[in-house]
Amino acid sequence: MQGAFDNNIVYRIQQATDIADLIGEYVSLSKKGREMVGLCPFHDDHRPSLCVNPVKQIFKCFACGAGGDVFKFVQMLENLNFPQAIERLAQRAGIKIEKSFYKSKSDDVDPATLVRVNDWAARHFQKNLTHPEKGKLARSYLKERQFSEADIKKWSIGLAFDKNDIAYAAQKNKISSELLVKAGLLTAQLTDRFENRIIFPIWDVTGRIIAFGARALDQSGPKYINSNNTALFEKSNCLYGLNLAKHKIVASASAIVVEGYTDCMMCHRFGFANVVATLGTSFTTGHARILRRYARRIILIFDSDTAGIEAANRALEICLAGNIDIRLAFVPQQKDPCDYLLSAGQKEFQNIIENSVDVFSFKWERLTNALRKDDNLIDGKAAVEQFLQSIATAMNAGAINPIEQGLLANRLSRIIGLSAEQINSQLDKTVKRVSNTGVFNNNGQHISTADFGTGAFAAAQRQVLEVLLNQPRLADSVKNDIEPELFDVPVLKQIACVLFDIIRQNPDTDLNRILMTVESVELANAIVLLEHTGREKGNFQASLQDAVRIVKHYQSRKKIEQLKKTSNETELLKSVLENSRKQNPHNIGML
Ligand SMILES: [Zn+2]
Repeated sequence: MQGAFDNNIVYRIQQATDIADLIGEYVSLSKKGREMVGLCPFHDDHRPSLCVNPVKQIFKCFACGAGGDVFKFVQMLENLNFPQAIERLAQRAGIKIEKSFYKSKSDDVDPATLVRVNDWAARHFQKNLTHPEKGKLARSYLKERQFSEADIKKWSIGLAFDKNDIAYAAQKNKISSELLVKAGLLTAQLTDRFENRIIFPIWDVTGRIIAFGARALDQSGPKYINSNNTALFEKSNCLYGLNLAKHKIVASASAIVVEGYTDCMMCHRFGFANVVATLGTSFTTGHARILRRYARRIILIFDSDTAGIEAANRALEICLAGNIDIRLAFVPQQKDPCDYLLSAGQKEFQNIIENSVDVFSFKWERLTNALRKDDNLIDGKAAVEQFLQSIATAMNAGAINPIEQGLLANRLSRIIGLSAEQINSQLDKTVKRVSNTGVFNNNGQHISTADFGTGAFAAAQRQVLEVLLNQPRLADSVKNDIEPELFDVPVLKQIACVLFDIIRQNPDTDLNRILMTVESVELANAIVLLEHTGREKGNFQASLQDAVRIVKHYQSRKKIEQLKKTSNETELLKSVLENSRKQNPHNIGML
C-alpha cells in the first residue's frame, strides 16, 4: 500500500498544508471551541457535521463518517487518487516534485495535467483576441456589449479562431492531441471544439481553469457551448464566477445566481460581487449543494416570470429539500441581467434583488391565481395537491416545523375551504409518500462505513487499535503479545499492519504520519473513526490490557480448534494443558 512514494516529500507537503485553510477553500468553517465546523461536502448535510481539528490536522464528519488528513480531503472531494492528491497539494504549497513521482499508472489522465493544458489554451485564446485583424470582430462584439479592457482581463476572455487553430498550435507546442481530447478542447475527430467563438474560461472554486464556455460570433451552430464533461468538469455541478464571488458570498451569506457568463460578469462590474452563473443549465441540486457551503440564502434571477415558473418549481423542491432559503427575482421587459444593468443601471437592479420573492410565496401566489382564475373543482384540487406535494417535500427535509405547517394549513384552509385539520392530515399523508420515495437521497455521496466485524474478538481488535492510534508509545508494552497476524477482521488487520509498521520505525509517530501512509480513503475514514472513539473512551492503558487479554484468549482458542482439525492429539493435549495453565495457573489439568 505504501512504498511507491517518498515519505519525506509527502510529509513535507502534508505539513505545508493547513487543514483548516484547505477545507476553508471549499467549505465555510466557523470556530467551535478548539475545532472548526462546517457543512460536510460528502453528504447532504443540514447541520454543520464536519469537524476540523487544527491541532491534529484531521477532519471528521459525525454524520457520514468521512474523515482523514489533507490528502484524503482532496482525494474525496475531487475524486483524485492518492498520487494525484499529493501532486495537487504540492502545487498548492509550492513544493516541486519529480514528474515520475506522481505518474499515475492507470489510463485516467491526471487532472493536474488537464489543468496545465487548459492554462495553455486559455493563454492561447487570449492572445488570439489581440490579433490585429483576426481579433477585430470579437473585440468589436465585446465593445458593443460594453465589456471593458479590465473586464476582458479580469475574466481572461479570449477568442477561438477558425479551422483547427488549437489543434495546430498544440502540434507546434508538442502537446498530444489525445490530451486535448481529454481536456475537451478537441473533438474525437481531432478537430477544434471551439471555432470562431469568444472564449470564457471556467474556473473551479479554487481558481483552476477546468473548462471553457464559448459564444458564437457567427450564425453557425448554437449561440453558447461549453467544454464537454471531462475528468475536471461536470456542467451541472459547476458555477461560473464562484472563485471570484466566494468571499462576498460568505461575507453576505447570500449568493445570486444568473444564467449566463455575460450576466455574471456584468453583475460583478456593477458591484454585485456575490453573483455566480449556471452554465446555461437550470439550477440543480449540485449547484445548491455547492452554494450551501457558503451561503444561507440563494437568489435566483430569471429573465421573465414565465421562464421562471418551471425553474421555480424545481428550485422549490431542490432548495427546500436542502433546507436553504431561496428567493426568486425577475428582470422586467424580458431582458437578461446584462442588458438590464446596462440600460437601467445599478440601482434598478438592486431593486430587483430587494424585491425578490420567497419561493414559497411565489408558489403560493401561483396557486391562488390559478384557483381564482378557474373555479373548476378538478383543476383546483390538482393545484392544491401540487402545492401540498411541494410543502411535503420541504417538510421531509426538515425545512418546515410543525408550527409553520399549522400556519400554512390555516392559510390554505381559508382559500380552498378545506379545514386546517383536513389539510394537515393530507399533508402528513403526502409527507409519508415523499419520504418513502426518498427523492432527495439520490445525490448524496455515500461513505460506506467499514465493517469492523462483530463479537468480542472483533471488539478487542478494535480496542487495541483505538488505543494505539491515540497512544502509539503503548505499543511497546504489548509488542510480545500482539501482532497484525492476530487480527482477523480484514479492515482492522490492514490498519494494524500499517500502524505496527510505522510504530516500529518511529514510536513517537502521530495520526498524521499514519494517515499519510494510507492510500485508501475508506481506510483513512476508518482510522479517524477509531482514533476518535479511542479518544472519547480514554483510559488507554487499562483498555489496552483488557483488549490484549481477550485477543490472546481467542488466539489460543483458535489454535486449539485448528489443532483439533488436524487431529493431532498429542499436540492438542499439550496445547490444551498449556492454555488452561495460562488461563488459570492454579487449576492445572482441570478442563
Ligand atoms: Zn458528512
